[in-house]
Amino acid sequence: MSQRIAVCPGSFDPITVGHLDIIKRASSLFDKVIVLVVINPNKHPSFTPDERVEMIKEAVDGMLNVEVDLYCGLLIDYVRNIGAVAIVKGLRAMSDFEYEFQMALTNKKMLPYAETVFLTTTANNMYLSSSLVKQVAMFGGDISDFVPRCLHNRIKERLFCSPETL
Ligand code: ADP
Repeated sequence: MSQRIAVCPGSFDPITVGHLDIIKRASSLFDKVIVLVVINPNKHPSFTPDERVEMIKEAVDGMLNVEVDLYCGLLIDYVRNIGAVAIVKGLRAMSDFEYEFQMALTNKKMLPYAETVFLTTTANNMYLSSSLVKQVAMFGGDISDFVPRCLHNRIKERLFCSPETL
């Protein structure tokens, strides 16, 4: 039987333990998971696409069926070309729902055989987002509960702004 591949798309600017939890859970449901850093021209990221890919690769090291890729374009074109059957998204709160629902229906219309699978966040990660991590790190706060351990220092050093520079 052919491999069942899922794509986990996002900005991952930077990857958080909330993302990592969704990736891990997706990897137990599918034969292969591709974590896809999607370039969104409407966002102004803090980390370059290559930096984000590199950090995710470090964070998923040891997860044997997880790969990381970078993409600029229409998500369903990537999904079709790679032969994936699903798009996996994490849902934190009602605030995520409306946008995600709209995206899922649009993608379904364009590529009917691909399913969007929503995994509900783990309660501990419900409030967690990349932008929250950035705000805390910028002012020197403790981000150790929010990002994968192997990336603490890198993210902290990269984002910290001393008050004199603000
Ligand atoms: P953000 O919304 O924080 O900028 P991304 O665009 O990188 O994050 O999101 C990629 C995917 O990860 C989305 O499906 C998003 O809902 C999910 N996600 C982000 N943070 C969490 C979290 N704390 N718990 C569960 N899912 C999450």
